[in-house]
Amino acid sequence: MGWQDYSLLSLARQGLSGNRGWKQAWRSPAPKKKYQVVIIGGGGHGLATAWYLAREHGIRDIAVLEKGWIGGGNTGRNTTNVRSDYMFSESAAMYDKALKLYEDFARELNFNIMLSQRGWVTLFHDQHQMESARHKLNWMRCNGIDAEILDRAALAKLIPGLRADNPRWPVLGAVLQQRGGTIRHDAVAWGYARGADRMGIDIIQNCEVKGFTREGDRITAIDTSRGTIGCDSVGVAVAGHSSVIADMAGFRLPVTSRCLQAMVSEPIRPILDVAMISPATGVYLNQTQKGELVMGAMLDPGQSYGQRGGPRTVQKVVEAAVELFPAFGQARLMRHWGGIVDIVPDSSPIIGATPVSNLYINCGWGTGGFKAIPVGGLMLAHAIATNRPHPLAEKFGLDRFRDNRLVDEGAASGIAH
Ligand SMILES: Cc1cc2nc3c(=O)[nH]c(=O)nc-3n(C[C@H](O)[C@H](O)[C@H](O)COP(=O)(O)OP(=O)(O)OC[C@H]3O[C@@H](n4cnc5c(N)ncnc54)[C@H](O)[C@@H]3O)c2cc1C
Repeated sequence: MGWQDYSLLSLARQGLSGNRGWKQAWRSPAPKKKYQVVIIGGGGHGLATAWYLAREHGIRDIAVLEKGWIGGGNTGRNTTNVRSDYMFSESAAMYDKALKLYEDFARELNFNIMLSQRGWVTLFHDQHQMESARHKLNWMRCNGIDAEILDRAALAKLIPGLRADNPRWPVLGAVLQQRGGTIRHDAVAWGYARGADRMGIDIIQNCEVKGFTREGDRITAIDTSRGTIGCDSVGVAVAGHSSVIADMAGFRLPVTSRCLQAMVSEPIRPILDVAMISPATGVYLNQTQKGELVMGAMLDPGQSYGQRGGPRTVQKVVEAAVELFPAFGQARLMRHWGGIVDIVPDSSPIIGATPVSNLYINCGWGTGGFKAIPVGGLMLAHAIATNRPHPLAEKFGLDRFRDNRLVDEGAASGIAH
């Protein structure tokens, strides 16, 4: 299949010929008997890992196995927010690298992910929270991340529909990260899939991993719904199903699986020009280019593999949104859904080696791994190719739970913690 660049010229040419000449963006090959590397999970992190293995390490004999369709997991279910306002320097370095890689994504992969750096605003509602706002500003600036404090007057200009004098939740101020914003989520999966396919990597959809064949401490083959596939190394990026795969491979992870819900309203006129969060009221929201209000919730309380939304969460989120923006009360809700996220005790990811010598993992992103996809792929690819942690991943190994070196980012991980 020939490669087709996306450009103004190709758009014009296709437009004139009725858009019938577009080629398939990636192939659907049958699995081979064996690959040098098999990646389990065709979400953003798995596909980015395949791409960086080829681009940075020259490894192209790779299959990405996805039990459903690519991007059908959390990568295509999230609320699309990106930011790098984390507290510890190791986290800030990692998340800001991700944002920089996203800033370069369209040029690098010739795919428009609709990165919109419209600003990420965290609202604060009382004096104590304002104290933590100043704390947050300091830590972000110390980490070299752009940040500024907005007072009520500045907020009223930036977010005209916001009811800052709300008697229950008065808004006293906010922290703004201007480089934060949104990205069209499934485009990230499609962009990496197309790039990986161009490098000769096989993306195999409808292929569920069901078990492993082990020899000593190594995996030699993977049992799938499309037959047995041999491998030299395995990368795992399956988010909320990480502990299921670890169990198949014979080890345990400090991960619990919880449902995180989101919802979207019917399209309305442009009114909200930033992506924002109000940790105290329990909502984060942004408006899509089509006009829909995208609203995210807190984690569901219990462990679950049910990828479903539910009315109690919908009610809480909508109440919080209408409390802040009374005008939104007139909009109708269009859809709601859930995704299964992988929660770890310190709200930081787990990247790299596992007790199985040729199996490497990328998980624990919980409620905030969309913003990290490029760097998650970069770090997992490095671990697979070199058997050493990427410099940005040194503090994020599985061994930190054994050695009690947690990187507790609970405060920066948003309300969904
Ligand atoms: C409602 C919601 C809102 C969110 N909002 C944000 C946000 O605004 N910003 C942010 O940064 N993050 C957000 N997140 C988190 C973010 O979406 C995830 O951290 C990120 O997408 C994880 O990507 P991934 O590639 O690891 O996982 P996924 O995209 O879930 O991909 C994993 C893939 O593995 C596949 N798989 C699982 N088991 C198997 C198996 N046995 N065999 C083969 N394949 C298998 C799944 O089908 C899935 O496609 C949100 C998540 C949800 C659910």
